[in-house]
Amino acid sequence: ALILGLESSCDETAAALVTSDRRILAHTLAGQEAAHRPYGGVVPEIAARAHVEVMAPLVEAALAEAGVTLAEVDAIAATAGPGLIGGVMVGLVTGKALALASGKPLVAVNHLEGHGLSPRLSDPDLAFPYLLLLVSGGHCQLLLVEGVGRYRRLATTIDDAAGEAFDKTAKLLGLGFPGGPAVEKAAMAGDPHAVPLPRPLVGSGEPHFSFAGLKSDVARKAGKFPVADLAASFQQAVVDCLVDRTRIALRSVRPTALVVAGGVAANKAVRGALESLAAEHGLRFVAPPLWLCTDNAAMIAWAGAERFAAGLTDPLDVPARPRWPLDPDAEKVRGAGV
Ligand code: ATP
Ligand code: MG
Ligand code: FE
Repeated sequence: ALILGLESSCDETAAALVTSDRRILAHTLAGQEAAHRPYGGVVPEIAARAHVEVMAPLVEAALAEAGVTLAEVDAIAATAGPGLIGGVMVGLVTGKALALASGKPLVAVNHLEGHGLSPRLSDPDLAFPYLLLLVSGGHCQLLLVEGVGRYRRLATTIDDAAGEAFDKTAKLLGLGFPGGPAVEKAAMAGDPHAVPLPRPLVGSGEPHFSFAGLKSDVARKAGKFPVADLAASFQQAVVDCLVDRTRIALRSVRPTALVVAGGVAANKAVRGALESLAAEHGLRFVAPPLWLCTDNAAMIAWAGAERFAAGLTDPLDVPARPRWPLDPDAEKVRGAGV
């Protein structure tokens, strides 16, 4: 099957055409870094307006790049949440309009499922169940992925997401926006053991995450150490937390592989440390290529392909959801946050 995917939940507008046998026929993407940079973070209203301007042209460009028409597409997948609601609505409404005009089925995709299934797009051998460390701008979770639409959340953050911690630290250190890549670059010239920083929750028996205290300590030490050393030490502390927490989770599950996805999975120190952890446990390690870690529409098209193959399509009145947990049971048991 051929799936058109649309993404607009944060500050990337994107369209892609992906087949169920994992061929990426086209992927187009428009970032908005320049528009948000003066504010040091994503401004929802500016993001939504930018999505309105570029979404339809990106779909047109993707169809042209793939050399196909809408009539040849089997289903239209669009992110329906979670994310900034104004942006989510642009992609979802575009998807509904295209489905309505073409008579093709709509697949409403959870953006987190897009991140979570993306490793199966890049690696055809990745089988369920796998342990997923989902590290992105808004989330930091460990999930046992048992199948399409079947997620068991083992852990989440009690305060900031991993990507959020990178972004806030970058701002504190004057490294600019977006923060993750800026911290990684600055860290290359620094000593990861130069600045003593806390590793929140490391050693605790539950595999949850916490990054707020780490960020506050960087704030206290900013100006007292070279920026490169602060960046490198912060990155090392995050890596140590991710590895320790994932190691605890591995005590309670028997996955086929250890998988990392989401924007922070583009970080080479994070990837390297998790690869070693997987090797330590005799597990396969799978991480998507860097471009597939940060927001894109290929992962949405792919999640759409997996759902379409499972017969999971959605009616045209499907809602846009600013909050949409992958494992609603976990949210019910623990309440918001943890
Ligand atoms: P979510 O997916 O939770 O809704 P999002 O879509 O905004 O949030 P992603 O696009 O998946 O998040 O990831 C963006 C985040 O990844 C940002 O916080 C960014 O700083 C971080 N990030 C991107 N590249 C790197 C990197 N090389 N090192 C560390 N962090 C990175
Ligand atoms: Mg972004
Ligand atoms: Fe994302």
